[in-house]
Formats: sequence, structure tokens, C-alpha cells
Amino acid sequence: MTTNKLSELSGEYVDERMEDSFRVERFAETVRQGRLLLVVSAILNVLFFASDWRFYGETHFFVAIPARAVVVAVSLVCLFAFRRCASPSQAQRVIVAWEVVTALAVGFLVSSHSDVAIFAVIVLPAIYYLAVPTPFRSKLMSGIGCSIVLLTGFMLPQTPGATTPGLILAMVTMNVALALVVAQGNRLRRLEWSATLSERRANAELAESRKMLEHIFMAVPIPLVVTQRESGKLIQANHAAICYFGGMPTFGEPHTADSIYIDAAERAAFLALLDKDGRVDSLEVGIRLASGERRDVLLAGSTVDLDGTPCIITGAVDISARKAMEARLENLATKDPLTQVANRTQFFAIAEREISRANRDKPPICVVMIDLDYFKLINDAFGHAAGDLTLQAFAELCRSLVRDQDHLARLGGEEFALLLPGCARDEALIVCERLRVSVENMRVDGAPASLRVTVSVGISEVALDENNILPALARADLALYGAKMRGRNKVVDANHEDLADCGEVPQPRALLVAV
Ligand code: GH3
Ligand code: MG
Ligand code: MG
Repeated sequence: MTTNKLSELSGEYVDERMEDSFRVERFAETVRQGRLLLVVSAILNVLFFASDWRFYGETHFFVAIPARAVVVAVSLVCLFAFRRCASPSQAQRVIVAWEVVTALAVGFLVSSHSDVAIFAVIVLPAIYYLAVPTPFRSKLMSGIGCSIVLLTGFMLPQTPGATTPGLILAMVTMNVALALVVAQGNRLRRLEWSATLSERRANAELAESRKMLEHIFMAVPIPLVVTQRESGKLIQANHAAICYFGGMPTFGEPHTADSIYIDAAERAAFLALLDKDGRVDSLEVGIRLASGERRDVLLAGSTVDLDGTPCIITGAVDISARKAMEARLENLATKDPLTQVANRTQFFAIAEREISRANRDKPPICVVMIDLDYFKLINDAFGHAAGDLTLQAFAELCRSLVRDQDHLARLGGEEFALLLPGCARDEALIVCERLRVSVENMRVDGAPASLRVTVSVGISEVALDENNILPALARADLALYGAKMRGRNKVVDANHEDLADCGEVPQPRALLVAV
């Protein structure tokens, strides 16, 4: 376990492993700076030969030239050695060697006591502190050592004078100041590096958790897709989604979520729910697979922010089988299986709804009872199957003659009822008369051409004070009975006909003759 704690004195990491990691990571920078230092040292000291030439003819000339040559040579040798350094400690050894040799050589050079010499006494330790890429302890030792060597070289040939204590104190002050500057620089660089490390670690953890989430996303056995909130553009789909849709769910142009929905209003409803609650738990919608097949699904979704872009993650559960079963059950409960018109139960439910609406808005509403004439004889003469075909053909014909808002139902056997909302008695009479004539002329597909059928029809209008269908239905039934009595193939209006003296229902002689 490494710690980020920094030394109060040096500004370096207290933890050696941490400090080593820091140096290793900055090794390339150390090498670059070291090389630059050595190159500059070699060039400047070559240029200083010109300055040293002023001692020509003096004894110091034979000290200055070799000392200068040593500095140039050690700079070049160290530069060469630096190329082979593979670690911070090797680089440090080369730099320290350069520092030692240079300090000793410059120690001889400053014995000239020239103006340049005092400048060198101050500048070289400063270079050791500020420009040389070594650890704090090494800088401190080389800075102090260099100051002692140069001060000694500068003062030794003479006896110490009145300025000597001042010079020593100045050197001590300079070393302390430079050490403080180095410590401060160390501290700032390491704080910056620690922050970078934390950020890197956080990014790595984030990347790791994203990867894990992506694995989970891909492995979930429920189809999941991610789309952009605004454009609906598909960003990602998991394996289950690709299998379910039969490919990437991006078919259609443009490649957006819209192309998957069969009804665009359902997508709008999904988005409206998301905006309202921030999530959708279950919304039934119809979608289209890549093959074009229609499926019913239950959608769940929530909004997510991906790299600053608002997105939606949506899961789909196929409920087509359930919906088909529901439709089948509803069909069984509400439709007559032979003719596919409403059954008795459904007829009364519809009638109740229509009458309560009629009570509110007061439009007329008519009830019609229809019975196929002498149907038993049709069965007897042509067979039960032909009878069934006749019932189907009649239902089909009747549906084609009434409006979409009218309701046809099979109440049982060969008895049908028709509810005509918004239709007054006079209009109902016209409709029923048209139906009667059409049935008279009807040919039953699949049955012998000689099979003919007629209908007897009774009509009644629901009175304004009636709040259920039964009285009107009873009147229509009575009118139907009247139609039968008057010879069948008739339309009778319950409100107009005097049904009291209808007498016996005629026997089917005419039809028997026809068969
Ligand atoms: P009417 O003119 O007086 O109504 O005479 P009808 O023969 O039509 O009346 P009846 O009530 O005597 O006979 C109705 C027949 O309808 C009897 C029954 O066999 C037949 N029937 C009832 N349901 C079906 C069905 O689903 N299919 C077939 N083929 N016949 C049916
Ligand atoms: Mg009948
Ligand atoms: Mg009947």
C-alpha cells in the first residue's frame, strides 16, 4: 500500500516506492533535461576558452586551459554515458560524476579571482540546485559541496580577509534559499502527479465498470436497445435484441426507433410517459421485426445520460402469444363462431352502451328482429351444411347492407337482431326492405342454385323513456311474428301494424312446392 504523503523538508514522497514510481515515469524527461544540460555545458565551456585566453602569459593560463578542457571533456563523456542509461539511478550516477568533476575543475578556474570567477562561484551551485535532474538529497549535497569547493578555490591562494565571513554567509544563504525553492518545486510537481494518478485511477475504474455494465447489457436475455432521446437514432442493441428483431433493429430508413413502431402515436405515447415520470414500466405497443412480421410487446424504458447525450434504454417483452390468446378468448366470448357476427351476450352489451348514449344525446335508435323463413325445410332439403352456408351468406349480405355503426347479432338458431343507432323508424323500414329484397335474390356460394331463402323482419324504435333494449326487442319480436303470420318474406313495423288479428302462422306449402 503506497501513500501520497510528502516530506516536509524535501517535498518528495515519503514512501520510497511511490517516489521510485514518480522518477521512473519522469525518466524520459530526466534524460532529456540531462542531455540538454551536458550539451549546453560543453558548448559554453568551449566558448569560455576565448575568455580564458586573456590569462595568456600569466601562470593562471596553465591552470585555466586544462581545467576548462576537463569541464568540456567530462561534459562530452557524460553525454555519451547518458545514452546508455536505462534507469533513473544510472542517470543520477552519471550526473553526479559530472557535478563532482566540474566543481573541482571550476574550483581551479575561480582561483583567478577575476570578476567572472565570483560570478561562477554563485552560478554553478545554483545550476546544481535548479537545472540538474537529481533527487533532493543529491542536489543538497552537490550544491553544498560545490559551494565549499568553489569558495575554497576562490579564497585559498590568499589569506582570509575581512570579506571572508560575509562571503561564507552569502553562500549559506544562497544554499538555503535554493534548497527551499527546490523543495517547493518538488512538492508542486508531486501534488500535480498525485492528482493525475487519482484521475487516471478513477478513469480506469470508470472504464472497468462500463465494461462490466456492457457485458451485463449484452448478456441480459431480454431484448434491450439504447436510442438517442431526440433523434431516436439507435446506439446499441444487445444479443437478445438482435436475435429477436432478426438483425440489428435499424432496418428501415431512417435508422431510428420510429421505424420499429407500427403506430407512430405509440412512440409518442412512450416518450410522453418518459417525460412525465422519467421512466416507463409497461406500455403495450405494436412493433415490426426485420422480416416485416408484426409483434405485440410490452415496453419498459428509462432515460440515461451517455457522454452528455440524453438517451433511452428500452426493454421489450414479447406478448404476442398472450394477445392472440386474449383475442381468441374475446372472440369466443363475444362472437358467433359460425357467422362471426356478435353473439347474444355481446348484442345486449352493445345495446346497453348504445341506449345509454342515446339517452344522453337523444337520437333515434331502432331494433330489428330477423328470422329466416322455413329454415328447417332448407336443412331438410339441402342438408345441414347447406343450412350453415345459408346462415353465413345471410350474415355477410346483411353486414354489407348496413352502416359501420350498425350492429348485427345472431341471437340463436336462424334468428338475428340488428341495432341501428341514429336511425329513425322510416329509415329502418327502408334499410330492412332493401335487406328483404336482397335476401330474396341471394345465391348461396357452395349450395345448390335452387336454394333460396327469405326473411321475415320486425322493426321497433326504442322509446325515449326506455333505458334498456328489452321492450323494443319484444315489440320487434311481435312485429316479426306478424310478418310470419302475413305470409313471411315481409317487413313489419311494430308501431304501425295492428298485430292483434294475425291469426295462424301459414304453413310452408309454397316453399315445399319450390323445393
Ligand atoms: P319459420 O318460417 O316459422 O321460422 O320456420 P323455420 O323452419 O325457420 O323455424 P323452426 O323454428 O321450425 O326451425 C328452425 C330451424 O333452424 C331448426 C334448426 O334445425 C335450424 N337451425 C338452428 N340452428 C342452426 C344452425 O346452426 N345450422 C343449421 N344448418 N340449422 C340450424
Ligand atoms: Mg325461421
Ligand atoms: Mg326461428
